[in-house]
Amino acid sequence: METFDVLIIGGGAAGMSSALLFGSAKNKPFAEGKNIGIIMHQKASALSSALFNNVLGIKPGTVGKEILESGKKQLAETYPHVKQIEKEKVIKVEEKEDEVVVTTNKNTYTAKNIIVAVGPANTFNIEGLTQYVEPHQKLPVEKNRIQLKNSDHQVTDKIYVAGVLAGHVSQLPIAMGSGADVAATIMRKWNDNKPAMVHDSVG
Ligand SMILES: Cc1cc2nc3c(=O)[nH]c(=O)nc-3n(C[C@H](O)[C@H](O)[C@H](O)COP(=O)(O)OP(=O)(O)OC[C@H]3O[C@@H](n4cnc5c(N)ncnc54)[C@H](O)[C@@H]3O)c2cc1C
Repeated sequence: METFDVLIIGGGAAGMSSALLFGSAKNKPFAEGKNIGIIMHQKASALSSALFNNVLGIKPGTVGKEILESGKKQLAETYPHVKQIEKEKVIKVEEKEDEVVVTTNKNTYTAKNIIVAVGPANTFNIEGLTQYVEPHQKLPVEKNRIQLKNSDHQVTDKIYVAGVLAGHVSQLPIAMGSGADVAATIMRKWNDNKPAMVHDSVG
């Protein structure tokens, strides 16, 4: 059974943004030897049907499908040490004393921390997480969306939530920022509680 330091669940906007930030910390001492994975399920992403004209840095007219593909490619080419787990869907999460056991339709993994970034659909049925479900606080009631109870993205000691499922409004930059924020929070823990940022610069 493969063990991760952090396992991200969901290959949409928040999940991939989180994975990219973790990946970019590869040369930082606090990230040395960390095993990072993402369950790269994309079929149910809101990005599949979206068209973007209002997001900084994304060329107007870009369709969300392109972002799903290019995000996966960017992660694979720039940070290949981040393991992308394809064609699996999480069905169960069990929090134990020292780890979280994640069961998909094909495999079982353990992780010290997980980030749940699967979007706000009210069909959410991951066993072991349904007790944290509550009505979404920022989306229109008639949309019948859900969020996971959390405090600044933290659901329990080992479980984090990101993206619209964390209670954010559904806008791409907010979902991406939420995923990155959770990565920075977990990396801060790895860094003896000192702020952990990764900045590349010119020259
Ligand atoms: C039609 C449409 C148009 C939009 N237009 C805009 C716009 O113009 N501007 C803007 O800013 N925003 C827009 N958005 C919103 C934006 O796309 C979302 O806010 C953003 O994608 C949410 O990111 P997320 O990571 O929370 O969820 P998602 O991107 O939906 O990602 C969730 C991921 O979790 C995966 N998943 C689900 N269940 C499981 C499971 N059990 N196990 C593993 N993985 C799972 C899914 O396959 C998916 O990849 C639009 C959305 C739609 C639907």
